[in-house]
Amino acid sequence: MTERLPGWRDIPIGGVAFKPSEEYKTGDWRVFRPVLNKEKCNRCYLCHFYCPEGAIKVLDTGDIEIDYDYCKGCLICVNECPRGALESVQE
Ligand code: SF4
Ligand code: SF4
Repeated sequence: MTERLPGWRDIPIGGVAFKPSEEYKTGDWRVFRPVLNKEKCNRCYLCHFYCPEGAIKVLDTGDIEIDYDYCKGCLICVNECPRGALESVQE
């Protein structure tokens, strides 16, 4: 008999950070920074949802903006962007 894997109803509700904690600026921890190439971005917002710091804002124009005061340079956004629109650049 195969073990039943948990379904989505079994998984506890998690949290997503949509804005950074403004108590501490964490951007100076960074070794690499993500840099956006607007030409390649299709505004899918996966980077916004994946960023654990809430450091990628969606502007009223629909563009995204990276807040370097809080981006720690984990590069999850670079890894998850399906269009290669984010490049990692050494500080
Ligand atoms: S994941 Fe990539 S394509 Fe999607 S909004 Fe972010 S930068 Fe743009
Ligand atoms: S490098 Fe990490 S902290 Fe910085 S914007 Fe991307 S996902 Fe957020």
